[in-house]
Amino acid sequence: MRVTFLGTSAGTPTRQRNVTGLAMAIDDARDWYLFDCGEATQHQLQHTRYTTARLRAVFITHVHGDHCYGLPGLIASANMSGRKTPLTICAPDGIEQFIRATFLHTDIRELRFPLHFVRSDLPDFSYDDGQLHVSAHPLSHRVPCFAYRAEEQPPRHLLEAELDEAGLPRGPLWNRLQRGEDVVSASGELFRSHDFSRPAWPPRSIIVGGDNDQPELLHDAMCRSDAMIHEATFSEEVLAKVGPKYMHSTAAMVAKAASEAGLRQLILTHFSQRYRPKGGDHVEHSIDDLIREARSYYEGNLYMAEDLHSYQLDRDRQLYRLDEPGH
Ligand SMILES: [Zn+2]
Repeated sequence: MRVTFLGTSAGTPTRQRNVTGLAMAIDDARDWYLFDCGEATQHQLQHTRYTTARLRAVFITHVHGDHCYGLPGLIASANMSGRKTPLTICAPDGIEQFIRATFLHTDIRELRFPLHFVRSDLPDFSYDDGQLHVSAHPLSHRVPCFAYRAEEQPPRHLLEAELDEAGLPRGPLWNRLQRGEDVVSASGELFRSHDFSRPAWPPRSIIVGGDNDQPELLHDAMCRSDAMIHEATFSEEVLAKVGPKYMHSTAAMVAKAASEAGLRQLILTHFSQRYRPKGGDHVEHSIDDLIREARSYYEGNLYMAEDLHSYQLDRDRQLYRLDEPGH
């Protein structure tokens, strides 16, 4: 699996960092998924290998503008570029109303492709397109906010000996089992795909957090995942000054929660604009403050996200940064 950061700044963009957006793909596939869509996400997209034509689904963590103001523009551009395939948008209550109101008042009467909105704040939410399975996990923020856990769905191998023993004749039913479907034999017996097939390799999984001041809420999800991307808006020192009202995490809070869950790899993002690259003018707070803070609680594989940089999670479950930006 691969993720590419389209924006890593909290609230407002800076010269180095756009507001939140993340592209995810299965390795080097051109088909991709978008997690959050802050303003100018479509501009950032121009510097990557991904296009709106190959976008399979969108997942929005919450209704704050730095996570969704880019969506109407991105959809309108996809429309102008001739996209025809339906687009699924998984989001909490409010996003569908925001998009429909924007189009209603800006002379977009009909798109060339249907939008399928799915409420990710409802308890039975899940997304599955046969390639990626996505679940939603409630967080603690000023509005309803969710993390998404994305798990790949590798091709499945049939357990042939077991099927022969159970007496299901080879043929079309075997093919359907392999595709992940449950089937009923001629004698009326139910065969579940999960009982008679195995993924070709153990599925990889990544958590994409939203804004959140209680990273420990993701403990169970972290225990079952290979990597997590989570906001670290502040350091402890800055949080002590600004107070808890914004309901964001510090690098220390996320690092502690990740450590307790035994999470092996962590990417921090969504940094307050006060954290600047080292060496610039008037640098009071630098990203190094956040790295140091996280490091004192977390010994795993740790990265600080940068715009347009990609990270690859290989089948050996090792996460590493790719050299070439946008890939
Ligand atoms: Zn935010």
